[in-house]
Amino acid sequence: MKTVCFGLQWGDEGKGKVTTYLSKEYDYVVRYSGGSNAGHTVEYGDFKLVHHLVPSFDVRKGVKGYISNGVVVDLNVIDKEIEELKRIGFDISSKLNISAFAHVVLPVHKILDEKMELVKGDKAVGTTKRGIGPTYADRVHRIGIRLADFEDKYLLAEKFSTINKIYKELYDIEWNNYNSVIEQYDRISKLIISPLEMKKDLENSNVLFEGTQGVLLDVDMGTYPYVTGTFCNTTGVESGLGYKINLDKRIGIFKAYITRVGEGPFPTELFGDEGEILRQAGKEFGATTGRPRRCGWLDLPLLKYAIEISGCDEMIMTKADVLAGMEKIKVGVRYAINGKKIEMPYNLSKIDKAQVEYAEFKGWNSLEDKEFQKFVEFIESETGVKITYISTGAKVDQVLT
Ligand code: GDP
Repeated sequence: MKTVCFGLQWGDEGKGKVTTYLSKEYDYVVRYSGGSNAGHTVEYGDFKLVHHLVPSFDVRKGVKGYISNGVVVDLNVIDKEIEELKRIGFDISSKLNISAFAHVVLPVHKILDEKMELVKGDKAVGTTKRGIGPTYADRVHRIGIRLADFEDKYLLAEKFSTINKIYKELYDIEWNNYNSVIEQYDRISKLIISPLEMKKDLENSNVLFEGTQGVLLDVDMGTYPYVTGTFCNTTGVESGLGYKINLDKRIGIFKAYITRVGEGPFPTELFGDEGEILRQAGKEFGATTGRPRRCGWLDLPLLKYAIEISGCDEMIMTKADVLAGMEKIKVGVRYAINGKKIEMPYNLSKIDKAQVEYAEFKGWNSLEDKEFQKFVEFIESETGVKITYISTGAKVDQVLT
């Protein structure tokens, strides 16, 4: 069985929790995109993990993890995550591998990320400043450093010096502390394997591919330019691994409302007290940066768009418990753009002009209430996709099936 579990919104849907819950049925959990800008929070009950690079597999079980070449790797972050897991009693060093073709995030990438945002001024994207975009850009510029490059220290020194020259010349950024990166590499080098070795392992295994961010932040199909630098859509699985994968199931995760971090259009956004109530109730603060997330009502036109482009077969809803106790719950059902009614946008670049039409639901106190059942049935009938699980709380095992 090959399944992908991915975000149907702007990220932070609870993919980490859901992936961990589902992972016990699989041999591997594979990260296929993104970098340490991801922050998947998983509450086990006795302890809590925030995964930035380590895939969200249940560390208590025999599941293994793999970081593919679609991911850009900050060596310091991955090392710290592995050490932190060891400190609390989970040695995953025999359960994790990283593709030798994965690109490495260097200090220059983080400096450039920050500088680029500053120069853009009020057109800044609102990145996490983790150097993700510049690392992907250098991959395309063909000056990036891959983990495999560390095997030949002489060639590596040449590559570092090329990067140094380019960054100084183009961006006035100076960096030559190569040794710190080499030391970080040495600490994780045992985990590195070639993409084809991994392909062999995955071929006859049950694999759960874990998406990062969400479809609406996909570099091509998201709200460009307010997107991340990678393929968050299900299409990212093959490009992230570099070879053919026959997926059996695409499971889209969505929150009962919607949030986004950073800039960009947000038709159902709630401002003032209304937004603040949702933010506090849902603890909507970024796992990577601590930034307050922008909050709004569930947006069906965008959900339909995400389903359309991802080939989503089934859905999992999270955080409906956060809305419990509210008198009325709204759902954005239709847009009007320049007077034209739209059920699902074909062009996300125009959604900042959308006037949203809402449906209103009576609130629920518990997820057992018939009011909540009506909400679920409405979403299923509007989207034509079944909601197979409902996450009822932050803890891994809090799931209604
Ligand atoms: P991810 O990046 O998609 O994994 O999402 P984040 O970890 O950034 O944010 C989701 C947050 O909601 C985390 O703190 C989760 O522990 C929490 N969470 C996940 N599912 C639920 C749920 O159903 N209810 C509640 N109350 N919290 C949840």
